[in-house]
Amino acid sequence: MIEFYKYEEKSELLDPNCDFKKTSQTIEHRKDPLLGTWCRINTDRAKRPHSSSGMLVDVDKRIKQIVKKSDNCFFCAENVLKKTPKHSFSDERITRGKFILFPNLFPFAPYHGVGVLTDKHFLALDKLNYKLWADALTGSISWFKNVHTHDSTARFASFNFNYLMPAAASLVHPHVQPLVDKRADNGLDLVLKKSYEYFSVSKSNFWQDLLDNDSSRFIGKTGKNVYWHAVFSPTCADEVVGIVCGKSSFMELSDDDIFGIADGISKVLRGLYSKGVRSVNMMINSAPLDENLGEFFYLNIRIVSRSLMVENYTTDRGFMEVLHNESIISTIPEDVALGLRKYF
Ligand SMILES: [Zn+2]
Repeated sequence: MIEFYKYEEKSELLDPNCDFKKTSQTIEHRKDPLLGTWCRINTDRAKRPHSSSGMLVDVDKRIKQIVKKSDNCFFCAENVLKKTPKHSFSDERITRGKFILFPNLFPFAPYHGVGVLTDKHFLALDKLNYKLWADALTGSISWFKNVHTHDSTARFASFNFNYLMPAAASLVHPHVQPLVDKRADNGLDLVLKKSYEYFSVSKSNFWQDLLDNDSSRFIGKTGKNVYWHAVFSPTCADEVVGIVCGKSSFMELSDDDIFGIADGISKVLRGLYSKGVRSVNMMINSAPLDENLGEFFYLNIRIVSRSLMVENYTTDRGFMEVLHNESIISTIPEDVALGLRKYF
């Protein structure tokens, strides 16, 4: 049975801001119900001073300046067919609507694609509509099938998105990175192992149990089959998971599932944008392309927000996240769900 385990601790100090009277802050520890990993939440940390702080209006101005300076980009319509590589097998490039997929010039997997989402050099998060995502997903899935037909040992497909510099995007032109790997990456490997372990012990599917028992963090449903929740024990701020009920891999998705994923992504991004988020990471985790693991694993989409891009901003990954593998969070998952619900 799924367990949402958490406990609280207090940290006391004599506070210089209150005449050195005794004050305390609450630290909540939450255990991930699948992985068993911990995070810590202290909402007071959102108030801490930063050497480099700035207003949202400055960030938007700064993004505009970067967009202006980065013209003549490889992904813009006038360059994309001249300056990006082609695949050496099957379709040289894949296009769906405005979406164009080609190989990454600097890959870290044998099959590492780049998919340009739009012919516009820059679109704000709230302008990445469901149509762009649906084209990107159908184009990427068609490429996954080409790759797997060409090389049956390439079985682990994922769909990934870095948006703006705090999320590790090197170019501002919105683009995704579909991958097909020969082994599961660390994150997927652990999720598949833990999902199977849960199934072996409790004789039920963790992902179905999550859908059936997580109403306080439920955000909404898109299409007939895709359910969106805030993550109980997040690894990053505003972490949201979309779960495609009953489907384990990209190969099993129907047109309605793809619409549901695309519609949900655009709604989450619109909601995050309206609360001031300007940079995100996203990924979709799938079972291997040649297996149906629906008995114990459902395909899922994860979206997180990243640091606000003020000048010389502080990263949100410090020693706890990078070296101790434990995240420090200042947003409450139930509040994240509440805030996003009105966009569904
Ligand atoms: Zn461009």
